[in-house]
This record gives sequence, C-alpha cells and structure tokens, in this order.
Amino acid sequence: KPAHERMSNRSFLAFIFFFSMFTTCLYFIYAAPGIANTYFFMVQAQGIMLRDNVRTIGHMIRLYTNKNSTLNGTDYPDGSNSSELLIQPTTFLPENFTYAQNLPCPERLPSMKGPIEVNMTEIPIEEMELKFSTFFDIKFGGHWKPKDCKPRWKVAVLIPFRNRHEHLPILFQHLTPMLQRQRLQFSYYVIEQTGSHPFNRAMLFNVGFLEAMKDLAWDCLVFHDVDHIPENDRNYYGCGQMPRHFAAKLDKYMYILPYSEFFGGVSGLTVEQFRKINGFPNAFWGWGGEDDDLWNRVHYAGLNVTRPEGEMGKYKSIPHHHRGEVQFLGRYKLLRYSKERQHLDGLNNLRYVARVSLHGLYKNITVDLQPELAPIADY
Ligand code: BGC
Repeated sequence: KPAHERMSNRSFLAFIFFFSMFTTCLYFIYAAPGIANTYFFMVQAQGIMLRDNVRTIGHMIRLYTNKNSTLNGTDYPDGSNSSELLIQPTTFLPENFTYAQNLPCPERLPSMKGPIEVNMTEIPIEEMELKFSTFFDIKFGGHWKPKDCKPRWKVAVLIPFRNRHEHLPILFQHLTPMLQRQRLQFSYYVIEQTGSHPFNRAMLFNVGFLEAMKDLAWDCLVFHDVDHIPENDRNYYGCGQMPRHFAAKLDKYMYILPYSEFFGGVSGLTVEQFRKINGFPNAFWGWGGEDDDLWNRVHYAGLNVTRPEGEMGKYKSIPHHHRGEVQFLGRYKLLRYSKERQHLDGLNNLRYVARVSLHGLYKNITVDLQPELAPIADY
C-alpha cells in the first residue's frame, strides 16, 4: 500500500481511539459525579499539602542558615493552618462536674472526650436496634432525651436516603453515643426517595423538616448524609446564632476544605433560620449543587456560616459505589439565580404525600418525588 493510505488508516484509528476515550471520560463524569469530583478535590488537596510542605522546608532552611532568627514557637510559615499546630485550650468542664435536672445542659461537657474510634463494619439493623433500646435507652422510633439536665437543643437529625441500607446502622452506631454525650434531645428521620426520578437530596430535607415538625417543636435541624461518620464527639450538634457547617474536614478531601463556600455533607440550621431562607431548593435533581444553593440562601438572608475548629470537624466517609446516581448538569445555571429563586422555590411551593413508618431507631418517611410537587412559575 502507498504510504499516504497507510497514514490515513492510522489517523482514522487514532481518531476512533481518542474519540472513545473522550466520550468514556464524559460518561464517567456524568454517571459517577461523586468519584470524579472527589478525585479533583483530592488532587487539589495534594497540591495544597505539597505547597505547604515546600514552604515549611524552605522556612526551616532559612531558619537554619540565618543565625539571627530563633524558633520561638510562633514562627509558622504563612498560609498554613498554623493555629491548629498550637494546642487548643481545653475549656471543657472537669470530670467532677455535677448535672442539675432543672438547669440547661452545658455545651462543653466532660463526657465529650474528643476523637471517636470509627468502625465501618456492617452490622444488621436488628442487632443495632436491640443494643440501642436496651443499653442506650432509645425509644421506639428513635427518640432520646437526657434525664440529668435540660437539653439545650431539640435536634431533628434528617437523613436523606435511597438504597443504602447497610450504611444506616454504621451511622447510628457512631452518632447515638455522641449525641448522648452531648446531652442533646434528638430523633432520627430517614427520608427515603422512591420512584424513578434522580435523587433529590434537598427536596428530601424539605419533606423531612415538614414531617418532623408534626412530631415535636424541634428547634435545631441537622442535615446529615448517611455516609458521613463524625470522628470527634466535641463536634457539637446543637445550633447557634449562625448556620453551621459540621463536615468541615473530610477524609476523602484529605481533611482540607475543598472550597470556602463548601456546605455539603453535614450542616445545621435553627428552625427559625431554615424558615427564613425558605428551606432548601426543590429544583436540584441529581447529584450536586443543592448545598451550594443553600450556602447562597443563607448569605442572601444576611446570615453567615460557622465551622468547628481543627480536629473537631473531621469526618470519614463510608466507601461505596455510586449506584447510578447522575450528576445534575443544570446546577450552574440554577446557582446563578439563587437569589431570585430563593422565595419562589423551597418550603413554600412544596406539596407531597408521604408514607410514614416507625422503626426501632428512626422514623422512615417515604416519598415518591416528582418535579410537579414543587411547581415554580417562570422567573
Ligand atoms: C458540588 C457540591 C458538592 C461539592 C463537593 C461541588 O461541585 O456542587 O454539591 O458538595 O462539589 O463534592
């Protein structure tokens, strides 16, 4: 064959090869958004760590070669989380603190010891239920309240859910003793999505909120992903003056906040704050963006977000395969109109019918979510 013919065959094959590589990549990003995203933030975190290490080494070399300077313990390289290197003062109450039934439970109790040992072993839910009803005094349906002091916050823990049955017991096993050590009154609500629409985490939270408020006058809401396990029991799940982002440091992002507006994983608002921002948006179908929209809502309402300091905000994520959850590609457009949409879409335009059932450790709220349940006029 003449050379030019062989050449065109080869370039045709190369074209096919690169084209299929490209479409595979696109498909991967679309069908496994969590993984692609995690990978991106992991690489970014690695870069940040590398840069910090280089700076520290440079700084040490400078200290070593410059005889005039001294290492006085405050000389940290700029840009690193230097405050975390300092030992944090312990303002937690002493071991011999005595509780009083008629006084509010303090926020920094001696029972809150710090790091929690995380165990990802899968356990049958029945085993958990037995253990918790007998040893942890959890009422059927998942409610608990301290007896030795008045709980400072009544916390509804809302967990959006679909097809992750093996994760629930792992979460309860870590969260229950932690919330009890924090002397918070709490109940677990698992809001389960049925039907064939993409997962809508935000709308599930709205449904969970409206259902939970029928049970009790909760004053604090914790929005909790089922696969996020806290690593420190001093990460106090009560609310405050400002909305809180509890999951500040995730193992999957190498314990570095991926971006300063990150509000995902585990967050909390008082009922009053949540009503003020009109809840979560209902329009985010599929993975991503709804937490960013909540961040915008909070800020447009003149509120700010606080985070636990240092080690307290650490979380481990339960490793799992993404089961056909698709990325929400329309999120960037919606996020541009967060402000305009805030009062059109949220708690105020949501209609739904839920099936409610009580389980040993939680209340299950099952809903078939459809876009028609949250109609929104064009804006
Ligand atoms: C998404 C968020 C997600 C974050 C971290 C962002 O790109 O919009 O929903 O929480 O990445 O994974």
